[in-house]
Amino acid sequence: MITLGIDIGSTTSKSVLLKDGKQILESYLVKAGTGTNGAEICFNEILLKANLKIEDLECIVATGYGRNHFKQADFQASELMCHALGTHFLLPRTRTVIDIGGQDIKVITLNDKGMLESFQMNDKCAAGTGRFLDVMSQVLQIKIDNFEEEYFKADNPSVISNTCTVFAESEVISQLAQGATISNVAAGVCNSVASRVSSLVKRQGINEEVSISGGVAKNGGVVDSLEKHLNCNVNRSDFAQLAGALGAAILAYRKKN
Ligand code: ADP
Repeated sequence: MITLGIDIGSTTSKSVLLKDGKQILESYLVKAGTGTNGAEICFNEILLKANLKIEDLECIVATGYGRNHFKQADFQASELMCHALGTHFLLPRTRTVIDIGGQDIKVITLNDKGMLESFQMNDKCAAGTGRFLDVMSQVLQIKIDNFEEEYFKADNPSVISNTCTVFAESEVISQLAQGATISNVAAGVCNSVASRVSSLVKRQGINEEVSISGGVAKNGGVVDSLEKHLNCNVNRSDFAQLAGALGAAILAYRKKN
């Protein structure tokens, strides 16, 4: 039985095809999210890659910010539930998931079956989210993928004291004007995100093992800084950005069994 999960996020659409609730057959990611044709591209391309037709799919579950606008879905599910299930599938010892996406942060406590027990979310502010990093990558004129490299090159990370993205942007510009290196400012940006996220994690309570999901998991600088702020290991799977789509595919399987 083949099921499909699609996560239509604020910046990126992701899809995963799952066989019998156990085996990942294919995945696809496109940097176009809610309000674009990202979901359609993601859906068509994954079927093409797997050489499947829509009739071959037993069930489709959509999650993410744009989940209610995806007409091909049989069901919609919350991102919280999908990230919990997807991360538990990838890293079964996980009891706390830190999901950092393009516009929000979620800290989810799981039971040993990967079901959500409780959670915390950030307020509407972009601080600590992928959006904050995206804005800073433009100011620093580095690619989002290069934060990690710059973070580990830093010898004297800048302190970014403003959490508000708009004020922090001015702060970053002024630090660069005063001669701070790109690496030191980039490390300061990663530390600022980790500091913001870790206060949310501490509010929720740390149940080990802790794992990260969402696109910001690709930023090893943020992950390293989070480990220092939380004083524990933060696991990350190469599949972390696809965890929500994977969770949706698992849920699609469970709907039919
Ligand atoms: P959403 O579901 O809201 O679209 P994602 O979980 O897909 O969000 O995460 C998107 C964020 O992930 C981006 O805002 C960006 O900051 C970060 N990101 C994406 N790709 C990379 C990468 N290669 N390296 C570092 N960070 C990344």
